Amino acid sequence: MSESEFYPSLAPGFVLRRLEVPFIYDIPGDELYELDDEAYEFIKKCDGKTPISKNILEAGEDAQEVIEYMQNEGIILMHEFAQPVEINGLQSPVPSLRYLLLNITNRCNLACRHCYLGKAGHDEMEPGVFEKTVSQFEDMGGLKLMISGGEPLMHSKFRELMDILSSYKLRTVLLSNGTLIDDITAKKLSAYVHEVQVSIDGTGSSHDLLRGNGSYEKAMKGIINLKNAGIPVSVATMVHRYNKGEFDGMQKLFSNMDVVSWGVDIPCEAGNLSGNREFILDARDAAPFLEYGFGEAAHESTGNFTCGSHLCSVAVDGSVSRCGFFDEEPVGDAGDLGSAWDKLCKDYLWMLDRLDCADCGVINECRGGCRFRAKLYRGILAPDPVMCHAKGVSGYL
Ligand code: SF4
Ligand code: SF4
Repeated sequence: MSESEFYPSLAPGFVLRRLEVPFIYDIPGDELYELDDEAYEFIKKCDGKTPISKNILEAGEDAQEVIEYMQNEGIILMHEFAQPVEINGLQSPVPSLRYLLLNITNRCNLACRHCYLGKAGHDEMEPGVFEKTVSQFEDMGGLKLMISGGEPLMHSKFRELMDILSSYKLRTVLLSNGTLIDDITAKKLSAYVHEVQVSIDGTGSSHDLLRGNGSYEKAMKGIINLKNAGIPVSVATMVHRYNKGEFDGMQKLFSNMDVVSWGVDIPCEAGNLSGNREFILDARDAAPFLEYGFGEAAHESTGNFTCGSHLCSVAVDGSVSRCGFFDEEPVGDAGDLGSAWDKLCKDYLWMLDRLDCADCGVINECRGGCRFRAKLYRGILAPDPVMCHAKGVSGYL
């Protein structure tokens, strides 16, 4: 049989998306491959039932090179017989909604002193609301679902929610405090999630000061259980007064543990932190710690936008906002995620030239930092003082 009689199909785990430009998204690998229009049209026909000869004929002469690259990367598979797969080059709005933070419960087994939610409660997202939200997110070309809380494992129907997710082609990241993840839970999670992000805020007692006695040991054990179950782990760390001497140690620890990414952030004075101000470092002292960390963050933007141009957050009651910090200013309901996203882009996403510091020399790299920190400092269009200190810019403070 000649190669022209093979049937190419997009490999499992890869999806085609039309965001600002066409991409293939590798769901388990969390990687976006940008395509030109020709390659996009070619991949659309990698449905396991269109013979390669017909596909090449329609895609043009350059297609052979594309095929070889995709085969080498494991993006397309060749079959001797037709093996149909569903190809859906979903078209996103622009800006594209790529990351959805879904707060499924405000129940929590801890009472962290910096929790932005304030007091834990007993609210849970109904499975019907969860499914409707996830389904719309996928239809809008979404890539990554970040399931958060509270502690998401405290949701009384957690298993039911995870079963719902199995029907969708989305990367699923669970944001957890890690303390409830024993080896059995980790094994169960491995069937559902692509990554678990565990919060670690110091190398022992400094973490416990923030999150409660014994929580560090339990969270670290949780990470080991996840790794033993084959689940990639990322770590999120908040900078505070009592962990500021531990960042080199954490860097070493997390590199040795082979975590996929380490996000370092400066907490905003909101929720419980307002009553625990002794943990807060001022912007000048906190800023240097942003040098730490590795890997990508969902808050990043593309184009000429301020933070979070591809992110939104859905609270436990289904209300939609920019991110968890803007929970008090919802723009709509997850029952109509498309309309809420339109409104969010209109009212909570700014072009860089609207900012008070639009003519700062590092604006394109900094993007004005975090809008919530800016709002707390001087106003929604003000500079973010943490970023000014991090970048060594003083003229706008
Ligand atoms: S306001 Fe701050 S926390 Fe919210 S998306 Fe922007 S950078 Fe992230
Ligand atoms: S460094 Fe400060 S002034 Fe410059 S863009 Fe960032 S927030 Fe604005």
